[in-house]
Amino acid sequence: MKEKFIELEKIYSSFTKKAREYKDSQACQKGCAFCCSEAGSIDITTLEGLQIKKALNALAKKQQKSFTKTLHREMRKRERKKIVPCPFLMKNKACIIYHVRPFSCRRIYSNHICTSQKPPKVNRHVMDIAKKSILALQQLDDTGYSGHISFVLHMLDTPAFLETYLNGDFKPQQIMVFGKSHKIIINKMML
Ligand code: SF4
Repeated sequence: MKEKFIELEKIYSSFTKKAREYKDSQACQKGCAFCCSEAGSIDITTLEGLQIKKALNALAKKQQKSFTKTLHREMRKRERKKIVPCPFLMKNKACIIYHVRPFSCRRIYSNHICTSQKPPKVNRHVMDIAKKSILALQQLDDTGYSGHISFVLHMLDTPAFLETYLNGDFKPQQIMVFGKSHKIIINKMML
Protein backbone atom coordinates (compact mmCIF):
# COMPACT_ATOMS: atom_id res chain seq x y z
CA MET A 1 0.00 0.00 0.00
CA LYS A 2 2.87 2.38 0.76
CA GLU A 3 3.89 2.46 -2.92
CA LYS A 4 0.29 3.06 -3.93
CA PHE A 5 0.03 6.05 -1.61
CA ILE A 6 3.20 7.46 -3.20
CA GLU A 7 1.68 6.99 -6.68
CA LEU A 8 -1.53 8.63 -5.47
CA GLU A 9 0.41 11.77 -4.50
CA LYS A 10 2.10 11.74 -7.92
CA ILE A 11 -1.28 11.72 -9.69
CA TYR A 12 -2.47 14.63 -7.52
CA SER A 13 0.72 16.65 -8.19
CA SER A 14 0.70 15.94 -11.89
CA PHE A 15 -2.90 17.21 -12.13
CA THR A 16 -2.08 20.33 -10.09
CA LYS A 17 0.87 21.09 -12.37
CA LYS A 18 -1.06 20.58 -15.62
CA ALA A 19 -4.14 22.53 -14.45
CA ARG A 20 -2.22 25.43 -12.91
CA GLU A 21 -2.26 27.76 -15.93
CA TYR A 22 -6.04 27.44 -16.30
CA LYS A 23 -6.69 27.86 -12.60
CA ASP A 24 -4.86 31.20 -12.51
CA SER A 25 -8.14 32.90 -13.41
CA GLN A 26 -10.17 31.20 -10.68
CA ALA A 27 -12.56 33.24 -8.55
CA CYS A 28 -12.24 30.91 -5.52
CA GLN A 29 -11.33 32.59 -2.25
CA LYS A 30 -10.39 31.37 1.19
CA GLY A 31 -13.51 30.92 3.30
CA CYS A 32 -15.76 30.00 0.36
CA ALA A 33 -16.95 26.44 0.86
CA PHE A 34 -19.58 26.36 -1.87
CA CYS A 35 -18.17 23.18 -3.44
CA CYS A 36 -18.03 21.51 -0.02
CA SER A 37 -21.58 22.39 0.89
CA GLU A 38 -23.73 22.75 -2.19
CA ALA A 39 -22.04 21.31 -5.23
CA GLY A 40 -23.28 17.78 -4.58
CA SER A 41 -21.29 14.62 -4.95
CA ILE A 42 -17.74 14.07 -3.72
CA ASP A 43 -16.67 10.73 -5.16
CA ILE A 44 -13.52 8.92 -4.10
CA THR A 45 -11.66 5.68 -4.75
CA THR A 46 -11.15 3.11 -2.01
CA LEU A 47 -7.44 3.99 -1.91
CA GLU A 48 -8.29 7.63 -1.25
CA GLY A 49 -10.77 6.43 1.37
CA LEU A 50 -8.04 4.45 3.09
CA GLN A 51 -5.84 7.54 3.20
CA ILE A 52 -8.71 9.56 4.72
CA LYS A 53 -9.36 6.80 7.27
CA LYS A 54 -5.72 6.93 8.34
CA ALA A 55 -6.02 10.69 8.88
CA LEU A 56 -9.22 10.19 10.90
CA ASN A 57 -7.56 7.51 13.04
CA ALA A 58 -4.90 10.05 13.97
CA LEU A 59 -7.52 12.36 15.54
CA ALA A 60 -8.32 12.33 19.26
CA LYS A 61 -10.65 9.46 20.27
CA LYS A 62 -13.51 11.86 21.08
CA GLN A 63 -13.26 13.48 17.67
CA GLN A 64 -13.10 10.05 15.98
CA LYS A 65 -16.33 9.02 17.68
CA SER A 66 -18.02 12.23 16.67
CA PHE A 67 -16.94 11.70 13.02
CA THR A 68 -18.23 8.15 13.03
CA LYS A 69 -21.64 9.49 14.03
CA THR A 70 -21.54 12.37 11.54
CA LEU A 71 -20.53 10.07 8.69
CA HIS A 72 -23.31 7.67 9.54
CA ARG A 73 -25.86 10.51 9.58
CA GLU A 74 -24.50 11.88 6.30
CA MET A 75 -24.77 8.48 4.68
CA ARG A 76 -28.43 8.15 5.67
CA LYS A 77 -29.17 11.60 4.23
CA ARG A 78 -27.36 10.74 1.01
CA GLU A 79 -29.41 7.59 0.76
CA ARG A 80 -32.47 9.85 0.81
CA LYS A 81 -30.85 11.83 -2.07
CA LYS A 82 -30.37 14.96 0.04
CA ILE A 83 -27.57 17.38 -0.77
CA VAL A 84 -25.83 18.04 2.52
CA PRO A 85 -22.53 19.75 3.40
CA CYS A 86 -19.49 17.48 3.43
CA PRO A 87 -19.03 15.92 6.88
CA PHE A 88 -15.41 17.12 6.90
CA LEU A 89 -16.31 20.77 6.56
CA MET A 90 -15.83 22.52 9.90
CA LYS A 91 -17.75 25.48 11.30
CA ASN A 92 -14.98 27.88 10.23
CA LYS A 93 -15.39 26.54 6.67
CA ALA A 94 -12.03 24.78 6.70
CA CYS A 95 -11.58 21.14 5.72
CA ILE A 96 -10.40 18.92 8.56
CA ILE A 97 -8.81 16.46 6.11
CA TYR A 98 -7.44 19.11 3.74
CA HIS A 99 -3.97 17.46 3.54
CA VAL A 100 -5.57 14.22 2.30
CA ARG A 101 -8.64 15.64 0.53
CA PRO A 102 -9.65 13.46 -2.40
CA PHE A 103 -9.20 14.22 -6.08
CA SER A 104 -12.84 15.34 -6.46
CA CYS A 105 -12.00 18.27 -4.18
CA ARG A 106 -8.64 19.00 -5.80
CA ARG A 107 -10.03 19.27 -9.30
CA ILE A 108 -12.96 21.56 -8.56
CA TYR A 109 -12.68 25.35 -8.77
CA SER A 110 -14.68 28.05 -10.50
CA ASN A 111 -14.08 30.89 -12.91
CA HIS A 112 -16.87 32.87 -11.29
CA ILE A 113 -18.27 33.38 -7.78
CA CYS A 114 -20.80 30.56 -7.34
CA THR A 115 -24.40 30.80 -6.17
CA SER A 116 -27.17 28.17 -6.16
CA GLN A 117 -28.20 29.53 -9.57
CA LYS A 118 -24.59 29.65 -10.81
CA PRO A 119 -22.78 26.38 -10.08
CA PRO A 120 -18.96 26.17 -10.43
CA LYS A 121 -17.62 26.88 -13.92
CA VAL A 122 -14.54 24.87 -14.81
CA ASN A 123 -12.38 25.29 -17.92
CA ARG A 124 -12.98 22.47 -20.40
CA HIS A 125 -9.22 21.68 -20.64
CA VAL A 126 -9.12 21.18 -16.87
CA MET A 127 -12.08 18.83 -17.15
CA ASP A 128 -10.20 16.82 -19.80
CA ILE A 129 -7.05 16.67 -17.66
CA ALA A 130 -9.20 15.63 -14.67
CA LYS A 131 -10.80 12.80 -16.67
CA LYS A 132 -7.35 11.36 -17.37
CA SER A 133 -6.39 11.69 -13.71
CA ILE A 134 -9.55 9.84 -12.64
CA LEU A 135 -8.67 6.98 -14.97
CA ALA A 136 -5.15 6.91 -13.51
CA LEU A 137 -6.63 6.82 -9.99
CA GLN A 138 -8.90 3.91 -10.90
CA GLN A 139 -6.02 2.09 -12.60
CA LEU A 140 -3.86 2.53 -9.51
CA ASP A 141 -6.68 1.18 -7.33
CA ASP A 142 -7.47 -1.74 -9.61
CA THR A 143 -8.71 -4.07 -6.87
CA GLY A 144 -10.88 -1.28 -5.49
CA TYR A 145 -14.02 0.74 -6.09
CA SER A 146 -15.25 4.31 -6.50
CA GLY A 147 -18.29 6.05 -5.14
CA HIS A 148 -19.57 8.75 -2.85
CA ILE A 149 -17.18 9.56 0.00
CA SER A 150 -19.55 8.48 2.79
CA PHE A 151 -20.42 5.19 1.05
CA VAL A 152 -16.79 4.27 0.37
CA LEU A 153 -15.80 5.13 3.95
CA HIS A 154 -18.67 2.96 5.15
CA MET A 155 -17.37 0.03 3.07
CA LEU A 156 -13.90 0.49 4.55
CA ASP A 157 -15.44 0.42 8.03
CA THR A 158 -16.78 -3.07 7.31
CA PRO A 159 -14.11 -5.48 8.68
CA ALA A 160 -14.63 -8.25 6.08
CA PHE A 161 -14.40 -5.78 3.19
CA LEU A 162 -11.37 -4.03 4.66
CA GLU A 163 -9.53 -7.34 5.09
CA THR A 164 -10.20 -8.36 1.48
CA TYR A 165 -9.11 -4.96 0.21
CA LEU A 166 -5.94 -4.77 2.29
CA ASN A 167 -4.96 -8.28 1.17
CA GLY A 168 -5.21 -7.08 -2.44
CA ASP A 169 -8.00 -9.60 -3.14
CA PHE A 170 -10.80 -8.81 -5.52
CA LYS A 171 -14.23 -10.09 -4.45
CA PRO A 172 -16.92 -7.84 -5.97
CA GLN A 173 -19.62 -10.30 -4.88
CA GLN A 174 -18.86 -9.18 -1.32
CA ILE A 175 -20.31 -5.73 -1.99
CA MET A 176 -22.79 -6.59 -4.74
CA VAL A 177 -25.98 -5.62 -2.92
CA PHE A 178 -24.60 -2.45 -1.31
CA GLY A 179 -22.73 -1.59 -4.51
CA LYS A 180 -25.84 -1.74 -6.67
CA SER A 181 -28.01 0.31 -4.35
CA HIS A 182 -25.29 2.93 -3.71
CA LYS A 183 -23.97 3.28 -7.27
CA ILE A 184 -20.52 1.94 -6.40
CA ILE A 185 -18.25 1.57 -9.44
CA ILE A 186 -15.81 -1.31 -9.86
CA ASN A 187 -12.57 0.44 -10.84
CA LYS A 188 -11.46 -2.44 -13.08
CA MET A 189 -14.59 -2.01 -15.19
CA MET A 190 -13.61 1.58 -16.05
CA LEU A 191 -10.23 0.69 -17.54
S1 SF4 B 1 -13.26 16.69 1.90
FE1 SF4 B 1 -12.74 18.77 2.52
S2 SF4 B 1 -12.38 19.91 0.57
FE2 SF4 B 1 -13.53 18.01 0.09
S3 SF4 B 1 -15.70 18.58 0.11
FE3 SF4 B 1 -15.17 17.82 2.18
S4 SF4 B 1 -14.64 19.67 3.35
FE4 SF4 B 1 -14.56 20.21 1.16
